[in-house]
Amino acid sequence: MKHIHEDTLVKYALGILKADEKDDVRIHIERCGNCRDKYKKIEGDIRFLSSIKPILKTPVIPLPTAKSELSNILKIAAILMIGFVTGFGASILSRPATVNVIPYYKQPAVSQSSASEFIQCQPDVVQFEK
Ligand SMILES: [Zn+2]
Repeated sequence: MKHIHEDTLVKYALGILKADEKDDVRIHIERCGNCRDKYKKIEGDIRFLSSIKPILKTPVIPLPTAKSELSNILKIAAILMIGFVTGFGASILSRPATVNVIPYYKQPAVSQSSASEFIQCQPDVVQFEK
């Protein structure tokens, strides 16, 4: 007769065996004193272990929630906003001073004494002057 493996006895004691396996183990234990003793020891161990109350509470690590993800997004957005504002401010401060050029157009003296002088007054005559 083949004895039942210890792992199977543990599963049987924990009640996590499939229904057909459970029946086989139960029948075998009823007939086999060796396996019955093993099973009783395992069952006692399991009962003992389950009766122990932990002295220290198990630390609970908070799972990421939607709220914390949102706050992370807000943190990133705030960092990006600070970077943008800082960069924009720096670009304004480091911008070269604007040079104001006031164009001065030399107005040729228009003499209306003759048509030929009037024709000379054309856009290419206009000059910039400091
Ligand atoms: Zn056996």
